[in-house]
Amino acid sequence: MTVDAVVVGAGLAGLACAQDLVAGGLRVLVLEGSDRVGGRMRTDLVHGFRLDRGFQVFNTSYPQVRRRMTLRALRLHPFTPGFLVAGPDGRGLFADPTRRPRDAAGLRQLASARDLAALGLLGARDAALPAALLRRAGEAPTYAALRSAGISAHGVETLLRPFLAGVFLEDGLETSGRFFHLVWRSLLRGSLCLPQTGIGAVPEQLAAGLPVRPECPVAELTGDGVLLADGGEVAAPAVVVATDPATAAQLLPGLAVPPMRAVSTLYHAAARPPLAEPTLVVDRDGPVLNTVVLSQVAPGLSGDGRALVSTSVLGTEVDEPAVRARLGELYGCDPGGWEHLATYRIPAALPAMPVPLLLSRTTRFGPGRYVCGDHRATGSVQGALASGARAAREVLADLGR
Ligand SMILES: Cc1cc2nc3c(=O)[nH]c(=O)nc-3n(C[C@H](O)[C@H](O)[C@H](O)COP(=O)(O)OP(=O)(O)OC[C@H]3O[C@@H](n4cnc5c(N)ncnc54)[C@H](O)[C@@H]3O)c2cc1C
Repeated sequence: MTVDAVVVGAGLAGLACAQDLVAGGLRVLVLEGSDRVGGRMRTDLVHGFRLDRGFQVFNTSYPQVRRRMTLRALRLHPFTPGFLVAGPDGRGLFADPTRRPRDAAGLRQLASARDLAALGLLGARDAALPAALLRRAGEAPTYAALRSAGISAHGVETLLRPFLAGVFLEDGLETSGRFFHLVWRSLLRGSLCLPQTGIGAVPEQLAAGLPVRPECPVAELTGDGVLLADGGEVAAPAVVVATDPATAAQLLPGLAVPPMRAVSTLYHAAARPPLAEPTLVVDRDGPVLNTVVLSQVAPGLSGDGRALVSTSVLGTEVDEPAVRARLGELYGCDPGGWEHLATYRIPAALPAMPVPLLLSRTTRFGPGRYVCGDHRATGSVQGALASGARAAREVLADLGR
């Protein structure tokens, strides 16, 4: 079989690339190794419950999302803007006071007036400046960027570290400050939501109408295309490797890939929701990174009317009884009767993004060979889609389209 371009991998990057190549008039084939599209963004049906493969949120302000997705078709359900910080003195809501003016007073219990003023300035700047300026700003690790914005060490510790650890999947805040500012901007400008049927609805919408062949792993790249694991071959003048970074490095020897950050997500079913609001709770002191009653966000995620609780911890070592005990403290309830539905351990969830971070890299690897994915941009939906879009632009330019 011969096509103009083969895309290896049907995660977000591969799907975005394929969309743009098809729109550019190429004959395209997407080869996906697993049974379904989505890569790291998939939802499983477990005893009627819809469980995402790791807790994820969907941000409506990402430019690539706005460009490609029909948001209404996803039937999005929003989280409460902001998050609850759980510490030794109980829980307090940290929210943008311009969105939730009635909660502004509560902010003063969470942080000093000086820290709140510094955060307000930082937020106003990030929300107002064009993204292109933030992308070119000087680079420092997030911790240093927050401190130089005037936020005290105590403010970082008690307010921002607990939340950002769940975004970066590392709690040293070594992640690029540029990435932090872009994420902060997107949080201030957009809404955090979940599709009614789980996060997997996002790649499923992207894949609609695309020529995707599942259960078709690529074993290696050949002189004129790809060799499939079943021995078949597909010829193409352009091959785009859009796999996870480790597989990309196998298919393209010599490709440098970043180390990956790990996370685990546990799902429990509870007879009653331990929190009435669809609000993310971040843990200042315990083994828990964050937890949320997902069925309060999107009721359809629960299979039988019980509350679906999602809880994440850093790394892949999970002590379920310790997590359950901490959930009792965080929610102020007895979780002894909760059913443990599943634990997802994800050793390669996000690429590490230390400084200096290149926010977008060429996808050209060699003649007729391209590589895209979040590891070539930023570890996010926006990064994966933008990298796929860049691969398509470079393929189309090289093929003279
Ligand atoms: C737990 C978790 C939480 C996250 N939370 C957020 C969040 O809240 N917000 C956000 O913006 N981002 C989040 N992300 C990041 C986001 O999901 C990823 O950046 C994005 O999905 C990566 O897409 P990708 O296409 O680059 O790679 P992948 O999703 O890894 O896709 C690669 C594809 O290649 C396929 N493949 C691999 N090998 C082969 C082969 N040999 N042949 C054919 N196919 C192959 C795989 O099966 C897969 O489908 C999260 C990620 C995880 C894991």
